[in-house]
Amino acid sequence: MHRITVIGGGFAGLTAAITAAEAGAKVTVHEAHHTLGGRARTADGPYRTNEGPHALYNGGPHWAWLRRRDLIGPLAPIPPLEAARLRLRHKGALRRTPPFAMLKLLRRGVGPAPVDTDFLTWATGIAGEEGARAAAHYCAVALFHHDPGSLSAAFVQERLRRAAKLPPEAHYPRGGWAGVVDRMAALAWNLGVRVETLSRVDTLPTDTPVVVATSLDAARRLLDDPTLTWPSGRTTLVDLAVRTRRGDAFAVSDLDAPGWIERFTAQDRTLAPAGEQLIQGQIPLAPDASKAEGVARAEHLLDLGFPGWRERLTWRREAVANGRTGAVDLPGTTWRDRPALDRGDGVYLAGDQVAAPGLLSEVSFNSALTAVSLALGRHGLDLKRA
Ligand SMILES: Cc1cc2nc3c(=O)[nH]c(=O)nc-3n(C[C@H](O)[C@H](O)[C@H](O)COP(=O)(O)OP(=O)(O)OC[C@H]3O[C@@H](n4cnc5c(N)ncnc54)[C@H](O)[C@@H]3O)c2cc1C
Repeated sequence: MHRITVIGGGFAGLTAAITAAEAGAKVTVHEAHHTLGGRARTADGPYRTNEGPHALYNGGPHWAWLRRRDLIGPLAPIPPLEAARLRLRHKGALRRTPPFAMLKLLRRGVGPAPVDTDFLTWATGIAGEEGARAAAHYCAVALFHHDPGSLSAAFVQERLRRAAKLPPEAHYPRGGWAGVVDRMAALAWNLGVRVETLSRVDTLPTDTPVVVATSLDAARRLLDDPTLTWPSGRTTLVDLAVRTRRGDAFAVSDLDAPGWIERFTAQDRTLAPAGEQLIQGQIPLAPDASKAEGVARAEHLLDLGFPGWRERLTWRREAVANGRTGAVDLPGTTWRDRPALDRGDGVYLAGDQVAAPGLLSEVSFNSALTAVSLALGRHGLDLKRA
């Protein structure tokens, strides 16, 4: 039986472990933290927050893979009345519909955007500057970047299409992402994967192929390879709970600047105690901007979408997520230009900032599958992808 070591027990590491074990390998996972899940962890409660606003997009390859293994679990659908409470801030006021110019970018006739041009320049040619800026800011929901218009047009267009799709691609596992992580961990256990938590790896093992399924920052340190870098976002995370009041928005998307605030209890009542609503927001920050600036912008969106929230506040927390929200591609680059998965000598990378396609955690998923395929393919094992 072939052996494989997986470093990191987040979404990528668990995907890699299950895939390798299903292919017949003997797998050991080392996770530095005392629980599995990484950035896909959910707080225990009473406010069951994910690390910032999190949705599982059903257009990605991970969806079918998770479904087939019964790992998604019960979903929390958004009631239509709540979905109708999506609001867009445009020119300082809350609106129900996007500006007409922005919609021009979503028309069927619009071809693939170029890789080499920035999104704002390309989109302005189709929708005018106002429509282009609104579209770029709307994409912040899946980009977590302070200037989405400056990124590669092809990269942003894919996110715009997926984030604006109807019916929406965004789905919510009931109870947060923790349920998915727990089910993945249970399947790994049943497949005989050995999981060692509180097991930080400082030196790469040399006796088995290794999948390094950590953040790219951690992989850079572990492999002592300064070339392991790629741009990502920096964003303020604002989590709060308020006493319930009829008429609160479901979500507020800022089209005047990047930012997104969502009331997660609209679809999942289990996330906060009875009578309270859990709201999570993210406001992308420029490299020189302070957390206080992000918080102030979040409070402005809260004032618009959740009147009286200050008087109703029962709990609050703020943080900055720096480089934790996946890869972004600058003009002239695609996912193929990111750090390659095969590092030589039986070491393979998996994670959300490496050379694999997809949106956010889908990059972790796709890279994990490919890393295992490369790691085990060498030994002539058949990888069961289905
Ligand atoms: C604010 C925010 C919002 C997001 N929203 C979404 C969303 O809506 N949809 C979506 O699909 N994705 C979203 N994401 C992205 C998603 O959370 C990540 O892409 C995904 O969780 C990354 O998984 P991973 O396994 O690649 O990395 P991680 O989750 O970072 O896992 C790496 C693991 O490796 C461990 N580790 C590190 N170093 C070592 C070591 N030396 N030894 C042993 N273990 C080690 C860490 O403890 C960690 O558990 C969001 C992320 C953030 C931060």
